[in-house]
Amino acid sequence: MLKKEYTNGEITILWRPEKCIHSGICVKTLPKVYNPKERPWIKPKNATTKELIKQVAKCPSGALRIKQDKKSMTKIGREDNGKKGRFIIYENDKFAGEMTYTWAGKSKFIINHTGVEEQFSGKGFGKKLVMKSVEFARNNDLKILPLCPFAKKSI
Ligand code: SF4
Repeated sequence: MLKKEYTNGEITILWRPEKCIHSGICVKTLPKVYNPKERPWIKPKNATTKELIKQVAKCPSGALRIKQDKKSMTKIGREDNGKKGRFIIYENDKFAGEMTYTWAGKSKFIINHTGVEEQFSGKGFGKKLVMKSVEFARNNDLKILPLCPFAKKSI
């Protein structure tokens, strides 16, 4: 049985063309995701996971199904050479972004820049990096000077 898959990174929509009775319900209820005139005709990234699940439940033929994607694992590491360093965030061991800093004496560091790779944007990784630096500062009795506008706003 032919089965096509479309993911938003959290869940995958499975579509079985031969089961589809072309009711058009999916197109009517979530037009930003389902558009038969475009390719791919299902774009799950245009809706939240909650919206997608709610819509798939309305498919009268069972042509649409939901499959949970593998949970993504994030971790944050730190590199430091005594003068400067960076906090690095990885998703499933893939580099996703970094927050660079420079030491200003022994008890203060300056956050210079926070950047997240485009494919990982919208996941709150920038904020996670900033929170990690705050945790690091607290645990080591350090002060932060945020030059990076994003970090300044977040802190
Ligand atoms: S709601 Fe289900 S049956 Fe109707 S067009 Fe969409 S996929 Fe096909």
